Amino acid sequence: MDPMQTPVDHDVVIIGSGFSGIGMAIALKKTGRTFTVLEKAHDIGGTWRDNLYPGCACDVPSHLYSFSFEPNPYWSRAYATADEIQDYLLYVVEKYDVRGDVQFDAQVTRGVYDESLRVWHLTVLGSDGAERHLVAGAVVLGVGALHEPSLPDIPGLETFAGEVMHTASWDPGASMFGRTVGIIGTGASAVQAIPLLAEDADHLTVFQRTPAWVLPKVDPEYPDGLQDAYDKRPWLMKLHRTKIKAANELRAIAFTRAPALLKAASLGAAANIRRSVKDPELRRKLIPDYTMGCKRITFSNAYYPALAREDVHVETEHITGADARGLTTADGARHDLDVLVLATGFDVAGSYRHLNFTGTRGHDLGEDWDAGITSYYGVTVPHFPNLFFLLGPNTALGHTSVLMMIEAQIALTLRLLDERDRRRAGAVQVREAVAQAHMATLDRRTRRTVWIAGGCDSWYLDQFGRNRVLWPGSVPEYERATRRTEMVDYEFTGSRASVSSSR
Ligand code: NAP
Repeated sequence: MDPMQTPVDHDVVIIGSGFSGIGMAIALKKTGRTFTVLEKAHDIGGTWRDNLYPGCACDVPSHLYSFSFEPNPYWSRAYATADEIQDYLLYVVEKYDVRGDVQFDAQVTRGVYDESLRVWHLTVLGSDGAERHLVAGAVVLGVGALHEPSLPDIPGLETFAGEVMHTASWDPGASMFGRTVGIIGTGASAVQAIPLLAEDADHLTVFQRTPAWVLPKVDPEYPDGLQDAYDKRPWLMKLHRTKIKAANELRAIAFTRAPALLKAASLGAAANIRRSVKDPELRRKLIPDYTMGCKRITFSNAYYPALAREDVHVETEHITGADARGLTTADGARHDLDVLVLATGFDVAGSYRHLNFTGTRGHDLGEDWDAGITSYYGVTVPHFPNLFFLLGPNTALGHTSVLMMIEAQIALTLRLLDERDRRRAGAVQVREAVAQAHMATLDRRTRRTVWIAGGCDSWYLDQFGRNRVLWPGSVPEYERATRRTEMVDYEFTGSRASVSSSR
């Protein structure tokens, strides 16, 4: 078939309606390209729609964790809670009129790149079980890496008779009052949930494999007067955002170039533990033996006091099994539970594997990435033309707001699509050698970072011990690099497909 005559349903299909997908939709709306957003759930949102566990909030200040083009003077406090952030996203969706562009209950289960027509064929599963097919000139993945819960491999867990809840699939109606609760994990989600679980539960056991570094949180409420001032004087709000951005970037230097600074900060953090926890045995359990920043640093004023409560127990013995009544640990102790909370994080590779994307020459995204992730600035991947990732590999951050990365990626995606069309080409993809050289540079730069040199194991590292999650630099550097990426780094091939008039 002549590719010029190939009907596509949409120029661009965006998968996911979280901050990435919605940001992309707003940007596309201004271009006149046809697009749709496919959302597997019944409402807008991603992380902040799904994470309903008690205490869920963002540990990046909200004036920076918001779109640069839609500042919000009305943040109620420095670090907004999950529902306030979700409300902000819903407000943005209405203001920019993109709700009508989202198809809900539309789960993409397969994507196949058609090499002769240079389009993507997507299989979409509805909540009624019916499958349909869409043809897209380009696909933007706004699915993120943190939405497939990682479940611990505990023998007998399926026989547990109580309630089991992962932090990312929380039942908002669940009550912990009067119940014996166990929580596995002490990462960012657990640090936020534990103080509230401890307050409500009759007894809480925290199963800790590795302690977290938890710093005090300075989280003032913003009084009405300040919110009004930000509303009336947008420059004041912009100045506040700029100050937060600059202060956070200083942390990037410590992470990537001077882990010794973090060692010094660890001493201050250990003093924080000693202040909150009087029991020397508990203190010993809680002080990490790795450099702060090696795993995500968390912030809470309530975490250590919660662990010090009489009705909270921190269990550091390895979990060996589960049965109908609860968990068993390596010392032979039984822990009877009514509720087991899994704060065990996410299956990063699985977030993309379940999409079942096949690119050129039979390349399977999941299999390729199992062997080792290769991408170019986290946005494009060799062998997957006309496919763009938002918050893809090596673009997550441990020190500041990922929304700035998303905005830079949206701009790069638009630039690549424009260039493809300007050349009247059908496809754009990164050159494999360019992407491989980029990964080698990232590996070289990551070697000295705290994530590798800090003495811990984390989900930032792949099976070869290479960082495939975080950007090892500052946000301004990433913004500059993606703005200046040279078109010679990409292959533009074939001729354009046309948009179906029956759409
Ligand atoms: P996480 O950081 O991956 O933490 C998982 C926890 O579960 C770790 O303590 C881990 O121990 C433990 N664990 C996992 N499997 C286990 C097993 N089989 N047995 C015992 N313990 C086990 O997950 P998360 O806390 O959900 O956070 C994931 C990411 O989400 C964060 O890094 C962050 O990017 C994001 N997040 C952000 C915010 C925010 O405020 N912005 C809040 C929450 C989450 P080990 O350390 O020993 O592996």
